[in-house]
Amino acid sequence: MKKFLLLIILVVIIASTSFSQLFENENCGANDNFIGNIFKHPWEKNNELLLNYLDTIGYKTDTFKTFYIVPVKFWIYRKADSTGGLNEKEIKGNIQYLNYYYSLNNTGIQFYLNPEIEYINKNKYFFMRYILQGPFQTFKHKTKGNINILFVDKLELFKFGKKVKDYNGTFNTISKGVIICSKTSTSSLSHEIGHFFGLKHPHRHWKRGKRKQESVDRDKRFHRIFNHKKNCEKNGDGLCDTPAEPDLTKYSDKNCKYTGWNVVDNWGVVYKPSTINIMSYTKNRECRNLFTKGQVAVMLKTASKNKYSKYWDINSAKSVNYKFDSFEPDFSVESASEIFIGSPQNHTFHLIYAKKKRNRSLDKEDWLYFLNKKDGQVFEINISSGKLKKAQLNIEVYFENNLIEKKSILNEKTSNIKIINPKKGKYFIKIEKISDEKSITDYNIEIKE
Ligand SMILES: [Zn+2]
Repeated sequence: MKKFLLLIILVVIIASTSFSQLFENENCGANDNFIGNIFKHPWEKNNELLLNYLDTIGYKTDTFKTFYIVPVKFWIYRKADSTGGLNEKEIKGNIQYLNYYYSLNNTGIQFYLNPEIEYINKNKYFFMRYILQGPFQTFKHKTKGNINILFVDKLELFKFGKKVKDYNGTFNTISKGVIICSKTSTSSLSHEIGHFFGLKHPHRHWKRGKRKQESVDRDKRFHRIFNHKKNCEKNGDGLCDTPAEPDLTKYSDKNCKYTGWNVVDNWGVVYKPSTINIMSYTKNRECRNLFTKGQVAVMLKTASKNKYSKYWDINSAKSVNYKFDSFEPDFSVESASEIFIGSPQNHTFHLIYAKKKRNRSLDKEDWLYFLNKKDGQVFEINISSGKLKKAQLNIEVYFENNLIEKKSILNEKTSNIKIINPKKGKYFIKIEKISDEKSITDYNIEIKE
């Protein structure tokens, strides 16, 4: 009962703070006022602390290094008849773009999909109401230790019974859940997860007065008795390496060009924004692909403070069983990864983190496909041990939905399957782990002509 009351109070708080956004033209839905006012971080007034933090953890801008691998749980809303919602190919696309944008910018964070995808088949949530329904669903559907993403067809804001706005996505600062529309830009999920890791919009409070607005001038300081800090360390997103900017929905075009040439800040200085920052509202969301070093620092610092970070931190002993491979998700025909002839791949079967031990599931099925370009070209599928323990495996090869070869590999170090007289076309390979060790295992696979 106590829990229920608390939930009601939280929902009311979220609903009321959301109303204030009506006047702020928020397209993403994550409430900047709320993120900004309640959760103050020590680095907010000192960017140098942030950059020092990167030095202490051995971060290097130009070197790709992973610090955290984080499980992501998808909750997919569909119509009552189970139609609509993301298909498995789209699910894979979402994870791939998420990992792409986070590796492109050397954020040190990578993500793996929790293969236990949950489907919620209810007409009333398929078009989700931003107020009440949205927050409530993020509290209801969450797996601890994962980033929970709720995919809906629409996220609608109603005011007095009338729809006034569609959002692309939102991050709930209390439940830490993300709601996002199924059909949205490739950078939207990265944006919402940016909020999860503590980032704010660079245009935050851009319409406010001199106290709240971020100045274009990077060296402008406050002149108050106890505050001589730089304006850019406190206002906007609190980061001086993201330029001050207006809401770019209005001031950029579909070709990613800035169009607010005469828009000035409160000190009369014309804005010089970047139109590619993932946390910006660039009109064409596909323009966005950048996280700055300051943003990376906020994300890594926030990740380190998360209570589940020891399971995400790749240098922690507790994380060894959670290492995914870069071909995932590949647990179905639809999400199968391509393997090219002559290019070996290493795959893992790992554990999926969840707070409760009994909820920790295994990734235990991989699907691959390859294209055989000519009739009669004999090929061979080689499976061998990798660096870790090799599990016992069942291998199945399919051509045009028919099972054509099958083999179990128990304790052999290497094993192969020959396909004699194959036809031209697309072949699928299913690799299933049949042994039940709870630790991570891996295998190498190569197709040879
Ligand atoms: Zn946002």
